[in-house]
Amino acid sequence: MKNNFMIAILTVLLLVAVIFGVLFGSGLLGEPSEVSIPATSIPNLDISDILSGNIDVSVESFPDTSTGDESTGDVSTEIPDTSTGDVSTEPPKPDTSEPVVTPPDTSEPEVSRPTYTGETWQVSGLSVRHLFTHCLIAYPELASNAAFTDCLTAPEWKKVLQSLYDNDFVLVDFNSIYDIYEEDGVEKAKMKSKITVPKGKKPLVISIDDVVYDPKKTNQGMVDKLVIRDNELWTYTLFKDGREEYSQDNEIFVILEDFIDMHPDFSYEGAKITLALTGFAGILGYRTDSSFAEQGYDVAKERKEAKVVVDWLKANGYTFASHSYAHGRMSNFSEEKTIRDCRKWKEEVASIVGDTNIFIYPYGDWPKYDTANHKALLDAGFKIFNGTSTMNYLINGFPGKGASVGNIFMDRFNVTGQTLLYATRQSDDGSYKFYDRMMEYYDPFEVYDNENRPETMYRPDDLQ
Ligand SMILES: [Zn+2]
Repeated sequence: MKNNFMIAILTVLLLVAVIFGVLFGSGLLGEPSEVSIPATSIPNLDISDILSGNIDVSVESFPDTSTGDESTGDVSTEIPDTSTGDVSTEPPKPDTSEPVVTPPDTSEPEVSRPTYTGETWQVSGLSVRHLFTHCLIAYPELASNAAFTDCLTAPEWKKVLQSLYDNDFVLVDFNSIYDIYEEDGVEKAKMKSKITVPKGKKPLVISIDDVVYDPKKTNQGMVDKLVIRDNELWTYTLFKDGREEYSQDNEIFVILEDFIDMHPDFSYEGAKITLALTGFAGILGYRTDSSFAEQGYDVAKERKEAKVVVDWLKANGYTFASHSYAHGRMSNFSEEKTIRDCRKWKEEVASIVGDTNIFIYPYGDWPKYDTANHKALLDAGFKIFNGTSTMNYLINGFPGKGASVGNIFMDRFNVTGQTLLYATRQSDDGSYKFYDRMMEYYDPFEVYDNENRPETMYRPDDLQ
C-alpha cells in the first residue's frame, strides 16, 4: 500500500519534471546561429493544462510586480456601470443631468511608414522577443520605493535601448507579426511563420503598461503628461512650487525618439513600441474618462487633447493595446465584471485610440483557459494575450479544445527595478539563472542605476 503510494508520488513528480523540462529547457537561451534565431515555442505540449491551472508555472513566472502598479497609478478595480442594457430590478431613476453629447473623434491620422530597401532575411515568427516595462522614474528625488520597484530610471532605459541595439534587436510593429484568420466563422490569430527583418537583426516588440499619469500620483517622480509641441513629442510636468518643465529626456517615448534619430536601424519600417492603456483614470495624462466630469474636468477637451497625442504616436509608429479598463486582478473577476470591463475600455479608451486585438493582463494575472472570463475577452475581440515573466514564453495557438484554440499567448520579459535585482539571485547549484536570461538583452549590472536608486547592486565576484 505504502509502496504503491510512493510510486504514484514519484510518477507524478517525474511527469512534472518532464513537462517543466520541455517548457523551460527548450531553446531559452539557445546559441545564436548565423541564419536563425532560436525559437522558444513549446511544441507538443498541451498548454490547456497550464492555462486551466493544472500545472502551475508561477514558480518561473513573475506577476507584473508584487506591489502591483501602485506607483504607476493603478489601484482601481471598480468599474462604474454605465450600460443601459443591464437588467435591473430597481426602477430607473429620472436622469436630470445634462447629457454629454460628444461623438468620439474617430478620424485616423495619416500614417506613412518608410519602406526598408536594404537586404533582409526571414526569421521564425516564434523567435520574436517581447519586453515590457512601465513609464520611467523621471525625477528620482521625488520617487517612492514602489516606483523604484516597478520602473526604470532614464539612465537605465537608455542603457537598455543601447544594449538591445548592440545585441542586434530591431523593433517591429506588434501588429505585423501575426495573421488574423477565420475558422468556423470565428476570427483567430496566429504568429506569422516567417518575419522579415533587416539581415542580421532579430525582431523585438516592446510594450509599456499603464501610461496613466494618475492625477492622484503627481509629484511622485513621474511626468504629468505627454504633449505635442512643434510636431514633436515632449513630456510636461508641473511641480509643487509652480515650476513647469517640458522635457525630451525623461520618459520612455521621448528617449526612444531620440535614440532612433541616432540609430534609425533600430526601427524596422518605422515601428516603435506599444502602449498598453487602462481607462479608469484617463490616458497619457489626460482625464478622458467620463467620471472626471464630476470632478470639474472638461472631459471633451481632455479627449481632444489626448487625441492629438494619440494621432502623433500612431503617425510615428506607435500602437495601442488594452491593459483592461480598471486594472484589477482579472482571474478574480466575475464574468459580468469582465464583460463590463471590456465594454468600458471600448467606450472610454478605444473611442480615442481605436480597436485592438491585443490584451495585456494587469499584474500579468490571466483568467484561466476555457473559463467564462477568458471567453468574455475573446468575445470582446482580443486574440493576442500577454502575461509577464522572465521567460520568453510564446504559445502560437492554444492547443487543446475550447473556444480559444488558435489564439496567441505571449509572455513579456519583465524589465523593472525589481527584476534587475534578481540578477544577484543564485540557485542552489550556484548558477545565476535570471542573470543568464537577462544577458540575452542587457547586462543588469551595467544597466542598474546605483546613482539614483535607493538600493545599490554590485556584480558578485563569481560573475566578474
Ligand atoms: Zn499595469
